[in-house]
Amino acid sequence: MWQIVGQEAAVGLLERSLKGGKLSHAYLFVGPKHVGKLTLALNLAQALNCEGDEKPCSTCPQCLRIAGGKHADVRVIGRDGKAEIGIDQIREMGHSANLRPFEGRHRVFIIDGAEHLSHEAANSLLKTLEEPPPQVQLVLLAVNERLLLPTVLSRCQKLTLRPLPIPVIEHYLIGRWSVAPQRAKILARLSSGCPGWAAAALTDEHLLSERAVRLGALIHLASVGWEERFAYAAQLANQFHRDRESVGEVLSLWIGWWHDLLLIKGGCGDFITNLEQEAILYHEAEVYSLRGIKEFIEGLQQAMEQLDQNANPRLVLEVLMLNMPFRTFRNL
Ligand SMILES: [Zn+2]
Repeated sequence: MWQIVGQEAAVGLLERSLKGGKLSHAYLFVGPKHVGKLTLALNLAQALNCEGDEKPCSTCPQCLRIAGGKHADVRVIGRDGKAEIGIDQIREMGHSANLRPFEGRHRVFIIDGAEHLSHEAANSLLKTLEEPPPQVQLVLLAVNERLLLPTVLSRCQKLTLRPLPIPVIEHYLIGRWSVAPQRAKILARLSSGCPGWAAAALTDEHLLSERAVRLGALIHLASVGWEERFAYAAQLANQFHRDRESVGEVLSLWIGWWHDLLLIKGGCGDFITNLEQEAILYHEAEVYSLRGIKEFIEGLQQAMEQLDQNANPRLVLEVLMLNMPFRTFRNL
């Protein structure tokens, strides 16, 4: 059984390709963090090596060893806390790709965070992508495909994993994790449609507290002067150089917050994401004009796009600070 939540289109395509013996030798799974890319890649590795009738069965020794991260032929290659996936890691992968499977039928290499391949590593990967040894399956996972080399992109079959509807996440939390309905409702809204985030938030208090800190900074920034705002922009720009993903998360969180304000302004407060901050949101919504909120959401989206396109982060974030409405002024 496929363990991934939702993503029926991607699962259906992989199932048909498996049954027809027409799997592409390399896939690229694209989607937001925690949407299920790694789960789907591991499910595919299970399906390729499964000894059961319904592949992946989740219960045969092959499936269990893969799920436990103990299978000798299934490797997940990631940044391991570093800024990039280095050439040594990809060279080593190329070497082991030429060996026969050790305990299963297929060797599966999953490159988690493929957009973080160094330039040399990506070029080295091209060799394996161009002439993949038999019995080797490559799966690249990426949040932002635009950061991949076009030559890498063109050699992979792309499957896009999209965020799931909130009720699906709610149902998943209640059904699989026995979460109380009210908590499931709150977490599902906060998950932005990513079941992995919701499941992680059940056990990792840090996720929720970090979110609260980021939102606190946002609320605070709206009532301070330029100096403090620019200092924050500089801090965020420095963070971007170390970990661009986390800055993307901050901006997504902000979009969610301002979108909530927009919903409340429009009389659709029942659909807000940040349910736990409902009282603050209603209070804040009084302070801004509808136009001010809309314009700032557009500014946030623009900033995210510009950062994606490698614009100067300090400049982009300073412009964003200039565009953020002040909460102390009653706008029109
Ligand atoms: Zn199995």
